[in-house]
Amino acid sequence: MKKGTACITKKGVERWKNGHPWIYAADVESVGDDVQAGDVVRVEDTRGWFLGQALYSKASKISLRWLAWDDAAIDADFFRARLQAADALRRREYPEERAYRVVHGEADLLPGLVVDRFGDALSVQFLHAGTERRKALFVELLAQHFKPKAIVNRSDANVRHLEGLEPEKGLLFGELPQVTSYREGHVLLDVDLLHGQKTGAFLDQRDNHVRASDFGTGEALDCFSYTGGFALQLALKAKKVTAVEISEAACGQIKKNAERNQLPNVETVCANAFDFLRDALDEGRRFDTIVLDPPSFAKNKDAIAAATRGYKEINLRAMQLLNPGGTLITASCTHHIDEARFEEMLDSAAADSKRRVQIIEKRGAGRDHPVLLGLRETRYLKCFVLRVL
Ligand code: SAH
Repeated sequence: MKKGTACITKKGVERWKNGHPWIYAADVESVGDDVQAGDVVRVEDTRGWFLGQALYSKASKISLRWLAWDDAAIDADFFRARLQAADALRRREYPEERAYRVVHGEADLLPGLVVDRFGDALSVQFLHAGTERRKALFVELLAQHFKPKAIVNRSDANVRHLEGLEPEKGLLFGELPQVTSYREGHVLLDVDLLHGQKTGAFLDQRDNHVRASDFGTGEALDCFSYTGGFALQLALKAKKVTAVEISEAACGQIKKNAERNQLPNVETVCANAFDFLRDALDEGRRFDTIVLDPPSFAKNKDAIAAATRGYKEINLRAMQLLNPGGTLITASCTHHIDEARFEEMLDSAAADSKRRVQIIEKRGAGRDHPVLLGLRETRYLKCFVLRVL
């Protein structure tokens, strides 16, 4: 086998030519014996025809991740151009914003790299042996481009295990400011870049948070609130908002964020949202707006049925808890449940709740989370706005 080369099967070639950015191990015929995890390899068919270049992974079921159709040098200039192109999209779509996802992995043609910007600080995930090995290069490129005060490594994600990498986190560059804050519409949120969940915050919901402020009225409920992204927007106009969250650290942050925004009408409840919804029904409580934004319920395909039952339970209860004409903003970030399946679940919840439900809007992640056609994994967030009659 030629050095630095991966040879792929006929099936693999078909996928490659159709533009799928992943080639699975089963579709790799052979790999040069000098090739290491994280190397850039030349991709060829079994006759030795050159197809392009990819990042190679030894441990993962996904062996090859597309980088280029041609034989361009994959060097600092190559990655600089991809980073600049990614940031240019955000600058065009969100010219005023200082917090957004800069790089969304494959969808920005940068497999295994996630970069979130929070003002003067960047939070980065290296999720592939290829980006892990080029960490110093990415830090240098990001430092040059953004001139940030700090770059934080949040590669403490479980998916790293699939690449044979240990989770890792820490400061990579500069000094972490005492407080990092960012704005979403009229709300200012503090984010703990080192200890917060994922990269510190869920920027994918930013536009949906802001949209939720349109439905702040009367009594509102935000379940799975994290640091109050939805709750605070609702509180701008609602009489009272109850934010339900199971993590104590996150609850503390909701309180701080509410204080900082002078929103005394936010009540934080540290509880399991499943229990809270059941008890609220038993107590005969009613709400005018409810948000449901749970964590992913299915890590793999086998868990889809159980996850769907979980979604149905909370959505059914939320529908029953709403006053006539009330709004349900309901989200799912589970990759394995697509929009059609999510809608089917809502349909079934509406039927069981004996309420008629209108779809007002189907939303997804913001425009800083582009979706790569052909790679459904990059389109994971569903967010429906419903009116419950
Ligand atoms: N709505 C948030 C993001 C939610 S992420 C935002 O827009 O920023 C999911 C949150 O649900 C996490 O903060 C997690 O701690 C919390 N969580 C997980 N299981 C829960 C449960 N059973 N009850 C309440 N909160 C839960």
